[in-house]
Amino acid sequence: MTESFAKKLCCPIDKHDLDIRIFVKHESGEILEALLTCKECSRYYPVIYGVPIMTPDEYRDKSLEEPVMKKWNLNLQSGKQGSFQLEENSST
Ligand SMILES: [Zn+2]
Repeated sequence: MTESFAKKLCCPIDKHDLDIRIFVKHESGEILEALLTCKECSRYYPVIYGVPIMTPDEYRDKSLEEPVMKKWNLNLQSGKQGSFQLEENSST
């Protein structure tokens, strides 16, 4: 996924623009690992191996995403299984 492609992505829930935090970028400019976040609903969408995970909540498996989020030092909202929201955005 390239950065210009990432900028075209919007939240599948509310169609709001997404913020991107890039963690790993290939020398070709391809984004390999990043986190897309929606300011509107506080959902996060990880980019793993260059693929944005933007499926609806019910098709996502938090247990698969958790190790990646931990690697990026990001805290998931605890006790809310299936909420797919970041803890740092919960107070805003
Ligand atoms: Zn949203």
